[in-house]
Amino acid sequence: MGYYNGHLAEHGHYIPSTLTDRALPDKTVGNRLNGLGEAKVRRPSRMFPAPGDKSHPLNKWLLLWAFRLFTSTWRTGFHMILDLVHTHIRPRRINPRKIHDSPENFTRRLKEYALSLPDVDIIGITNMKEEYIYQEDSTAPFKKFKWVVMIGRAMDYEQAKKNLDGDFTSTVAQVFGGYEKSKKAAVQIANWIRAQGYAADGHGGFDAAPGNILMGIPAAIDAGLGQLGKNGSMLSDKLGSAFRLADIVTDIPLIPDAPYDNGADDFCLSCQACTNHCPPGAISDSKQLVRGVEKWYVDFDKCAPFMSEKQGCALCLTSCPWSMPGVAGPLSAKMLKRRQRQTTAS
Ligand code: SF4
Ligand code: SF4
Repeated sequence: MGYYNGHLAEHGHYIPSTLTDRALPDKTVGNRLNGLGEAKVRRPSRMFPAPGDKSHPLNKWLLLWAFRLFTSTWRTGFHMILDLVHTHIRPRRINPRKIHDSPENFTRRLKEYALSLPDVDIIGITNMKEEYIYQEDSTAPFKKFKWVVMIGRAMDYEQAKKNLDGDFTSTVAQVFGGYEKSKKAAVQIANWIRAQGYAADGHGGFDAAPGNILMGIPAAIDAGLGQLGKNGSMLSDKLGSAFRLADIVTDIPLIPDAPYDNGADDFCLSCQACTNHCPPGAISDSKQLVRGVEKWYVDFDKCAPFMSEKQGCALCLTSCPWSMPGVAGPLSAKMLKRRQRQTTAS
């Protein structure tokens, strides 16, 4: 066991560094927080501590991970600082002269504006739901809004996939640069809504730390952006799995999108690329019971030590065939066509 870096004993068995081991001594804490094996439906617990919560079991590990990130490459540290700038400097005041328009027109104009931004590749709208909010955040200020607008920004796949050759620094710059840029876009979109005279807040990136963020993946799935994949991330039929999400919460009149089946779940049943590429063996080939629901699940306690020592890892995103540029759309169409054939034949 190294002091700062661990090592892979064999595929599926990672030995963390002494430092990681001290920061994360409880070897089942993450899966317990996530509710692995629990039959009762409940909302998930916070993986990031609320402000002032000194007793959160992941505090030390998160601090160590933040240090590793900040010092990994100057690019990641730079994105972390910019992330704070977007939160505290960019939001503009709400226009006191409210503009009135139909939900259809606001939805169309909002999406047109968002997709004209360089950091927005996909956008969808859903109603605010209790299940997007961590169980400890019942009084979260964003809960009062009616709508959640989810946006996604593609990573540069050529840069991100360098982790497949052992270069994790380019990947982590894509991951955290993607968080920072998608959050910047979320704040820009919130500002566009504020200019129409309606309340809106944009969240993303490191907002998770001050208890300011909702769970992006369930909201993005409900907003019609994709389906949950075996790698625990969302698979979009436009961007695959290599993208970052951010959200805007608002009360402007809008029309919601609907979740839909894009064939990813079927595809994952017979694909093992992420399972085979995950060094600590955190990805299971079968769905698991998590807070009363059978679903794809990544073993947090196997992933966390490796992922944090490699700053962001993301091998499960870049190894996914859906993430290769131009591949997700045709794969989705193929899966849906196959399903249609099976349904017609039966
Ligand atoms: S980030 Fe993905 S590939 Fe890396 S350890 Fe975690 S689950 Fe495995
Ligand atoms: S690599 Fe294969 S199994 Fe894993 S998420 Fe992507 S499509 Fe699904």
